[in-house]
Amino acid sequence: VRRLGKDAMNEQAPTILNVELGERSYPIAIGPDLLGDSALLNRHIDGGKVAIVTNTTVAPLYLEKVAGALRAQGREVVEIVLPDGEEHKNWESLNLVYDALLQNRCDRKTTLVALGGGVIGDLTGFAASSYMRGVPFVQVPTTLLSQVDSSVGGKTGINHPLGKNMIGAFYQPRAVIADTATLDTLPARELSAGLAEVIKHGAILDAEYFAWIEQNIDKLVAREPQAMAYAIARSCEIKADVVRKDEREGGLRAVLNFGHTFGHAIESGLGYGNWLHGEAVGCGMVMAADLSARLGLIDAATVERVRALVKAAGLPTVAPDLGIDRWIELMAVDKKNEGGAIKFILLKPLGSPAITTVPLETLRATLDGCVK
Ligand code: NAD
Ligand code: MG
Repeated sequence: VRRLGKDAMNEQAPTILNVELGERSYPIAIGPDLLGDSALLNRHIDGGKVAIVTNTTVAPLYLEKVAGALRAQGREVVEIVLPDGEEHKNWESLNLVYDALLQNRCDRKTTLVALGGGVIGDLTGFAASSYMRGVPFVQVPTTLLSQVDSSVGGKTGINHPLGKNMIGAFYQPRAVIADTATLDTLPARELSAGLAEVIKHGAILDAEYFAWIEQNIDKLVAREPQAMAYAIARSCEIKADVVRKDEREGGLRAVLNFGHTFGHAIESGLGYGNWLHGEAVGCGMVMAADLSARLGLIDAATVERVRALVKAAGLPTVAPDLGIDRWIELMAVDKKNEGGAIKFILLKPLGSPAITTVPLETLRATLDGCVK
C-alpha cells in the first residue's frame, strides 16, 4: 500500500491509498463529501454508460447525488434499485441486475457502480464479474463495515439457500470511493458492527493502531469525521496489505478471520440476522482473546483491554448460551476448517496472530467462561 497524495495541509482533501495488485491495482479514496465530487467519480469510468446498483434504503439518501455527478459529465445513467437486506443477496436480485443491464442495452464498456453496504457491494461486484464476461465496476461503500472491510479485497458473491457467500468470484474494482459523510445516516447498531472489524485489524496486526482505537473510541462512536477517516484509512491499509500478499486466500488472509470462528457459531446458532455479523465478531474476539490467555499467549490484562474496547464500541461481550456441545458442533462446520480439527486465529501477543488448533478442554473452559 502506497499513500499517493495525502495533502496534510488540507483536511478536506481525500486520503488516497493504492491497493497494489499488479495490473489489478486500484485506488481507495477516503474523505467527506466525495459523492458529489463529479471529477473523482468520473475519473474511474470510461464508457458512456453507467449502471448504479443500490437499494431502497440508500437510494432516497444518496442515489440522486451520485447519478447527478455522473450525468453532469454527460454520462447516461441506469438506476437499479434492489430490495434491502441480506435475504435479498441472492439469485433473484442478481437476475434483476442482469435484466436491467440487458433491457438498457448495456455493453462491455458499461461501468457498474455499487452504491450501498456490503450486500450491494458483493452482489454488484459479482454481477460485474459475470455480465458479458466482465465489465468494470466501482465500489461506493456507504456503511462503515463496507468501507473498512468488504469493499477491499475483491471477494464478490451472493448467498445460496444452503450457505452464505457460496456463489461468487474474486473480482477487483476499478476504484473504491468511501465518503465518510454517508456514515451520518447509518443506524448506531450498524456503526458498531463496522467498528468490530476496525478493532479486529488493530488486534490482529497492529498493536499501536489498537492503542489508537482505545484512545479514540468515543470519537469513533460519535462519528467524529477526522477520527473516522483515519480509522477507515488505516483499516483499509492493513486489509489491503494482507490481500496484496494473499489475494486468493492461500493462507495469510485467514488471519482476517480473528473472532470469526466464534462469531459464525453465534450467527448460525442464533439464526442469521439475530445478531449482526459485527456484533458476533465483537463477542468472538473477546472469546478468542480469552482462549489466547488460557493458552498462555497473552496475559489477563490484554483480555480485559479487548473486552473493554469491544464494549466501548457498543458491541456485546457476553456470549449466548447455545449449549457447549452445540457450540463446538457449530464451530466445527465453519467453512474455514480443513481436515476436521478446528483452527483458531489467536493473539500472540496483541497485534500479531497465531493460527493453531487447541486442546478441547481449553476450548470448553473458554466457552464456560464467556457464555452467560
Ligand atoms: P448491509 O449492506 O446490509 O447494510 C446494512 C444496512 O444499512 C442495510 O439496511 C443498508 O441498506 C443500510 N445502509 C447502507 N448504507 C447506509 C447509509 N449510509 N445510511 C443509512 N443506512 C444505510 O450490511 P453491511 O454490514 O454493509 O455488509 C454486510 C455484507 O457484507 C454481508 O453480506 C457480508 O457477507 C458482506 N461482507 C463481504 C466481505 C467481502 O470481503 N466481500 C467482507 C465482509 C462482509
Ligand atoms: Mg467479518
